[in-house]
Amino acid sequence: MAYSLKIYDPAFDIYLKNTKDYRFQFAFALAIIAIAGFYLYGEMSDEMENPEALYIGLGIGGMFFLIGVFSAFSGKKEQTWDGEVVEKEIIEKEKKVEFIVYFEDNRQRRQEIRTENDATLYNYFKIGEKVRYHGKLKTYEKFNKSGDDIIFCNACCFMHDIEDIMCKNCGCPLLK
Ligand SMILES: [Zn+2]
Repeated sequence: MAYSLKIYDPAFDIYLKNTKDYRFQFAFALAIIAIAGFYLYGEMSDEMENPEALYIGLGIGGMFFLIGVFSAFSGKKEQTWDGEVVEKEIIEKEKKVEFIVYFEDNRQRRQEIRTENDATLYNYFKIGEKVRYHGKLKTYEKFNKSGDDIIFCNACCFMHDIEDIMCKNCGCPLLK
């Protein structure tokens, strides 16, 4: 029963950097496709001519590019805090069921996890359990995992058997 020291494993920093890079590359690829696509459309179609089509492509491409820069570099730094599970709630709506777990940190501030139509996380956290919120990963770790059959990767949230050591999805160590 403890918070895992594996949180200091460099694999987490590598994971965070790679996610940032992928977001940027994805947005960059979309930008290139938009610019090239509109240019080709301007060349081949009768409905729009270049350079007008190219200008539209550059406008849309530029937007994708900015979104990529923004999402890669704006990642708000969050604090790590210790707290506990204080309340759980199920809200039944017309077409979906919402499962909510409420946490309170040591300064009485409330946080929550919401999932739709899936009770896995709702069942995973029990009222009164101590948790640590890892700010850089934006995920929770339970203090006591001794009664659990499953564990979630704190980097990518992939679900694992409690016996597993490493995340099969992203390669980060499981915090236990
Ligand atoms: Zn993972």
